[in-house]
Amino acid sequence: MVSRIVLALAIGFLLTGCGGDETVSGKDGSADVAAAFYPLAYAAERVGGAVVSVTNLTPPGTEPHDVELSARDVERVRSASVVLYLGSGFQPALEQAAEGASGETIDLLEGLDLRAAGTAVDPHVWLDPVRYARIVERIGTALDRPDEAARLKKELLALDGEFRAGLEDCERQELVTSHAAFGHLAERYGLEQIAISGLSPEAEPTAGELEQVIEKVREHGATTIFFETLVSPRLAQTVAREVGAETAVLNPLEGLTEEDIDAGADYFSLMRANLAALREALECR
Ligand SMILES: [Zn+2]
Repeated sequence: MVSRIVLALAIGFLLTGCGGDETVSGKDGSADVAAAFYPLAYAAERVGGAVVSVTNLTPPGTEPHDVELSARDVERVRSASVVLYLGSGFQPALEQAAEGASGETIDLLEGLDLRAAGTAVDPHVWLDPVRYARIVERIGTALDRPDEAARLKKELLALDGEFRAGLEDCERQELVTSHAAFGHLAERYGLEQIAISGLSPEAEPTAGELEQVIEKVREHGATTIFFETLVSPRLAQTVAREVGAETAVLNPLEGLTEEDIDAGADYFSLMRANLAALREALECR
């Protein structure tokens, strides 16, 4: 696999002209990985260490659904030695750019068992530590770094244990979220997701659908409505006001904010903050 990466690098050089752009090959000859958004970039950095140079194609502070790529980003995808992305329409512009890539392109949703959400598949696999661990394993194979992948996988399975233990004995099971990002997580830990928007934050509800969500939230007696850091809290606040519930942050890990980065937050610290927020909202013992 290393030789494939080296070969792809060599081809990348030939296509782009030697030494023109340092992002093409990484600063010191390391393999250049283009990752679709934060969770994939984080995994690639942890697994790849110093032998890879990772570019995150979704800028900090923006959510990755339907990301638009600049001409420079498209060039990065085309010349990267490895492109890591999620298919199934999560980021169509990236899927399209990956078709013209000279390196290895890996759709990390392939081969995972995915829950259906209506007619679409739910791409939010990274919020389930067990599915995310499988993704990490695959990245380890692609980058020829199985030991590093195994280490990260072990940490993820420990995190899974923390979620299991932390959500085992709760007063309520309903998780009211802004957009439907927590379906895989809910399924893994026996919770029920009630989402205000659809699989994408842009899939906003009609007035009638919003009324149905409010009814459902009332029925279940949920006391917390979760909103996200990268999406407007407007709808969550509306639902909370209607039912007299509180709002709190539940982070779908679709990207870090500048504040997250300054605070040194990462996948694990934000997932543990999510667990704490869930335990409080659902009154877990
Ligand atoms: Zn999402």
